[in-house]
Amino acid sequence: MAQSCIDLLYGELYQEGRACLETAGIEEAELDARLLLEFVCKTDRNTLLAHGDREVTVEECERYRELIGKRAAHVPLQHLTGEQDFMGLTFLVNSDVLVPRQDTEILVEEAMKHLHDGMRILDLCTGSGCILLSLLHYSNDCEGVGTDLSPQALAVARKNAERLREKRPDMKARFLEGDLFGALEEHFDMIVSNPPYIETGVIDTLMPEVREHEPLMALDGGADGLAFYRKITAQAGAYLNGGGMLFFEIGCEQAEAVCGLMAAAGFCEIRVVKDFAGLDRVVYGIWFG
Ligand code: GLN
Repeated sequence: MAQSCIDLLYGELYQEGRACLETAGIEEAELDARLLLEFVCKTDRNTLLAHGDREVTVEECERYRELIGKRAAHVPLQHLTGEQDFMGLTFLVNSDVLVPRQDTEILVEEAMKHLHDGMRILDLCTGSGCILLSLLHYSNDCEGVGTDLSPQALAVARKNAERLREKRPDMKARFLEGDLFGALEEHFDMIVSNPPYIETGVIDTLMPEVREHEPLMALDGGADGLAFYRKITAQAGAYLNGGGMLFFEIGCEQAEAVCGLMAAAGFCEIRVVKDFAGLDRVVYGIWFG
C-alpha cells in the first residue's frame, strides 16, 4: 500500500515512481521518474538534489502517480509531458508526430554547415516540423516549406512554428499537406528529410513505446525501408536550384543504398556522416542540374 500523499516528501515520491518504473522494466526509470516529477511539480533538476525534503501537495502526488502508471504501461514520456527538446528548442509533440530524436540533430547540424542567409529550404515528411523550424531559427532571412501527408502532424508543426515565432517573429515557415513534393511548384536551395525508413517487417520488433504509440506512417519505409529515399531522390532535382543540396537522415545500414540512389539520380559529391555512436546517420549530395 502506498503512503498517503500528505506524508510524502518530494524525494520519497520520486523513489516510489522510480521503483514503479523499474519494476515495469522501463529502461530509463530514474530519468523518467525525475522528469515526470519535475513536470508535475514545475520544479527542476536541482530540486531533487537540494530540496528532496520539499513537501508535495495531494494534487501533485495524485497527478504524478497517474503519469507514472501510464509511463509504466509504456506510453512515451514525451506524450505525457507533451514536449521534446531538440536543438536547444522545445517542440510540442503528441501521438500524431514522431517524437524528435537526438540522432536527427546530426542532420540539422550538417545542413546548418551548408545553409546561408536567404536560402529556401524544403523539409519533406516534416512531422512536428522540428528539422525545418530549427534550421530557420538558427539562420537569417531563410524561408522554408514543410510538407507532410498527415493534416494532424501539420497542425502540430504549425503550433510549433507559432511558438517559435515568439522568439523569432520574422520566421518564414509554411506547412503544406501533400505527398512529398505534392503540388509544389517552387524551387529550393536545400531539401532536408528524415523520412520513414524502418523496414515494414521490423516494426513489430520495435519497443512498445514506438510500435504502439508513434504513428506508423512516420516509421514505415516499405519492405526494404527505402521507399521514400527512392521517390525523393528521383524527384528532388526538379525542385532544386543548381548547386542545391539534398540531405537525408538514414537508418545506420542504409548508407550504401541511399548513396547509390542519389548517384543514380545525378547527385554529386555525395557524403555520409556518422552520428555520435559512430553509425552512419546522414547522407547528402549536391545537384548541379
Ligand atoms: N521530420 C520529423 C522528424 O524528424 C518527422 C519524421 C518522420 O515522420 N519520419 O522528427
